[in-house]
Formats: sequence, structure tokens, C-alpha cells
Amino acid sequence: MTQGDEPEIVLEEIACPICRSRRHRRYLETTDPLHGVGGKFQIVRCRDCQHIFMNPVPTAECLAACYPTAYGPHAGRTVETSLPLPEKLPTQPEAEQSDQLKTADAPWYLSSSFRRIPGIRKLYYWLSNTRSDYLPTTTKENARAIELGCATGSFLAKLADAGWKAEGVELVESAASVAQRNGFPVHVGTLQSAKHPADTYDAAFAWMVIEHLPDPTSAFCEFHRILKHGGLLAFSVPNVSCWEPFFFGRSWYVWEVPRHLQYFGPRSLRKLLTESGFDDIKIVHQRNILNVIGSLGIALRRLRRKSKLAERLIDCPNRLSMWWQLLLAPAAIFLAMMRQGGRLTIIARCNKPPAKPLTQNVEQPSESV
Ligand SMILES: [Zn+2]
Repeated sequence: MTQGDEPEIVLEEIACPICRSRRHRRYLETTDPLHGVGGKFQIVRCRDCQHIFMNPVPTAECLAACYPTAYGPHAGRTVETSLPLPEKLPTQPEAEQSDQLKTADAPWYLSSSFRRIPGIRKLYYWLSNTRSDYLPTTTKENARAIELGCATGSFLAKLADAGWKAEGVELVESAASVAQRNGFPVHVGTLQSAKHPADTYDAAFAWMVIEHLPDPTSAFCEFHRILKHGGLLAFSVPNVSCWEPFFFGRSWYVWEVPRHLQYFGPRSLRKLLTESGFDDIKIVHQRNILNVIGSLGIALRRLRRKSKLAERLIDCPNRLSMWWQLLLAPAAIFLAMMRQGGRLTIIARCNKPPAKPLTQNVEQPSESV
């Protein structure tokens, strides 16, 4: 988006997307740190459920204008979401665990003399397992899986390799058309506009997507509706309840207004999932420090506007090489062990019906401080 032809982003006040309260206080005001969408944007904290969200938000008509045409995830998946989760996860049989390893990208040690070093395979998987996504295999005939925000379809391809009949939902037409050309049915639009029949899917996925949604409650309800009884929901989001936002302040890589509209922590996620009818919830702290690298870049750019190092650091989360990932792994693993991971992977089961009706809209006057 260049200056001059920059579209105007129209904003509107909203109620809390989780509890529908209109009582909130200002948490932070910042500008778009990554793509320079004009204007200042406000992030607030709900006074009732403590959820942190952007408010006011772009109107539905303006959402697309917040994304530059070269927006990274629409062009393809990055290294941080390309690795499998080989560790045992709930309700995943042992046989599936070993199958999962077979679907991983061929690692470097298989094509070199490194493979002769004892334990190198185990060490490689331990260091490279960022826990950024979750790829279960299935032996069930015609098991159907859907991915929200499938972009160009690289995770759909992995699902197909793992035995699933994979479908996608993608807002950006150019990205969706790549997946469609590769043979995957992809609805262009929102999850709700796809109008899939109820009780259709055995599994649903959404990698780093939920934080972009204006109404995550509605999305979880829709996942609940289209999943079969006992169906699996797996997704990832940034973690606002870790040390990073407190340390980096306005320079935290994840604020990313006006594209990130929600900022979740384990507490708000559990509330949202439970109220939408999901249980057996497992929250995994990812082993990656991509947010930290990006935040250092934004902080440096605030100090030295034309710093090339700042630009390289900001771009790093999209292009981190495997060698850098292995080098930074000990720090990432330590932070995850301390439950301070900057990103979370969540796995839950859809056990119908919803535990209780969703929180009703509380009509209260807006209260900003
Ligand atoms: Zn709230």
C-alpha cells in the first residue's frame, strides 16, 4: 500500500467478542508495525471477562484493505508451521505417532553421513519440533477434515497424505485458487458463509487464523456445528499471557493491528471453547521464539528508522532457516517448559451438545478509560 492510493479504513466500536460486555478500558494504542496501514489503532481489555481485543475494529467492508497483496501467509506457509508434532498427544494411538513421522519433510540427516551418528535422529526431532501444528493420521475411510484459512493449501496436502479427505476455507481468492488447482475443494469466504451441513467433519484445523477473526465466538460455534460428535479441533494463536508483550510493550510483534483483532491467553481460550461445547482441551506452548526476533526488529526500527538489521529481524519470522531454528531451539524449548511460549497450539474435542448456552449480549454503555 503506497501513500496516496491508501484506502481509508473505517472503524466501528464493538462489544467484547467473548462476553458481549461493552465495558472496557484502553490497554494500548499503536500503529501498524508491519505493513504501514495508516492511522492509530486501539487495543482494549474487557472489564468483565478480561479478554484483550482491538476496538474499534475495521468494518467488514474494510477488512480486506488491511491486508497488503504480498501478505506473507497468503503466499504460502512458513517454516514455523511446517513441522509435525511427533510427541504423544491426547487420544492419539501409538501407531499413529510413528505414521506421523513418515509424513514429515525429509530431514537433512537422511541424505548425509550425519545419519551414522548415534541418536542424531532423536536429537533432530527434539530440536526441530516446534509444536506449531498437529497432524493426526487417520485410517478411517472417507474421514473428512476442514482447514479454516488454508491459504495455498500446503497443510491440506499434508492432511491428504495422512489419509484425510481435505477441504479448505480461505478469504483470499488468489491463495484459494492455488489450492483449488491442486485438487482441493476450497470455499472462498468465511467459515459461516460456506454453510456446510451439520455433523459433517471428523476434524477441523485453523493455524494462526483465529486472532484475525472479528467474531471468534461465532467461528467456534460454527466449528461445533459442522464437526461430528467426538470430532477434533486443532488450532494455534499467539499467547498474550506470556512475558513477551510485557517486555516489548508497543513493539511486540504480535500486536499487528489492524489485522490481529483478538489476543488470547490460555484462560480466555478455555472459556471460549468450553462455552462453545468443546472439552478434553489440551493447550501446548510452542517451542519457537519467532515473536521475539520480530519484536527485536520492531524495537530497533523505532530507535533507528533506516536500520537494515531491523528490517531483516522483522522479516525473519517468515524466512527463518532450519539452521537458525536448530540454533535457537534450546531457548525456545526452555520458554515452552516455563509455560511462556509466545504461541499456543490448542487441541480439543467436540462433544455435543454445548455445555451451556453462549453468553448473551449484555447491553451496557461503552466505558473507555
Ligand atoms: Zn468480555
